[in-house]
Amino acid sequence: MRFADIPGHEDVKARLRDMVDNNRLPHALLLEGPAGCGKYALARALTTYIHCTNRRDGDSCGVCEACRQHASFNHIDTFYSFPVVKKNSKPTVSNDYFDEFKEFIDEEPFMDFSHWLKCLGNDNAQPQIYVEEASALLDRLNLTARQSRFKVVLMWLPERLHASAANKLLKLVEEPSADTLFIMASNKPSDILPTIYSRVQRVGVRRYSDAEVARILINNGIDAPTAESVAILAAGNVNAAMTAIEGNEDNAKLLDLYKELMRKAWTRKVKDLRKWSKDIGELGREGQMRFYTYCSRMTRNNFILNLQQPALAPMDADEATFSSRFSAYITDRNVEGIMQEFDRAVSDTAANGNARIIAFDLAVKMIKWLRK
Ligand SMILES: [Zn+2]
Repeated sequence: MRFADIPGHEDVKARLRDMVDNNRLPHALLLEGPAGCGKYALARALTTYIHCTNRRDGDSCGVCEACRQHASFNHIDTFYSFPVVKKNSKPTVSNDYFDEFKEFIDEEPFMDFSHWLKCLGNDNAQPQIYVEEASALLDRLNLTARQSRFKVVLMWLPERLHASAANKLLKLVEEPSADTLFIMASNKPSDILPTIYSRVQRVGVRRYSDAEVARILINNGIDAPTAESVAILAAGNVNAAMTAIEGNEDNAKLLDLYKELMRKAWTRKVKDLRKWSKDIGELGREGQMRFYTYCSRMTRNNFILNLQQPALAPMDADEATFSSRFSAYITDRNVEGIMQEFDRAVSDTAANGNARIIAFDLAVKMIKWLRK
């Protein structure tokens, strides 16, 4: 990770660069700021800059041995410490999840915490940095011979340090050996134990502007109008923006299936509806429930549109285009019946019914309802 790989934050980069160039690195440094603004990426870029043997133009070179080791997470003087969950209720250290972590930060430099929970295999977990991790860190710092001037502990989310772990590390943060640096990134510094927080030098990282978020999305292949509209809602959080875009893509797929159902049912294409039922069967149970719930909402919104109350029927642009004509088919004669069919499909799916039969049954009934 080079500074150049991270969009924006020129002021922070200049400050960090200056610390290295002028020998003013504190023993414990904390990058603090809201989630999804790239703090840990900055911490990684700083660490690479510290270790690079051929710094140029205020950045690491990207080609020296140290830079190459950093790129493959193999730098001997760099220790990654981050919250984990217990594996088989045994003492667990960050290294037990290092493969998952490498892949995670490689793919997601902005590090969506909810995605990290998925990597840990538990959406509801409360991962921590356990006391065992603190002991392991102390051992590794003591035992490893250093190759560069500084050993660096790169800690993600020190607010998740268990109190006993924090106490164990306290002495090192307080009176560090001359060759060890702690570089930490926190989303919620108010949750860091005061004993630690009061001993670190803090650098604030501000949220991205809407324009910066939009530019990051565009660089990730998102079209400009979508990027700009999503950025406004994301409040500077790149992860929130990415999640919103995934939600949009999901919606587009559900809308296509809804359109297909209604068009084929209107034209009585029974054979096509059988094929459609097969597609629904492949969504998986959770996907089917989401789809039928979506259908129910779309039907309701089309009825409201038919009543000339568009303000009460929130839709995205594609849904609105389809509904501008389709809403004429959802009237007070069929709206309740159609919504009941979708509700029944949800409860039959929840009760483990055969997905294709449920979908086909619903599709055939739709032929009748649309003609009412
Ligand atoms: Zn280098």
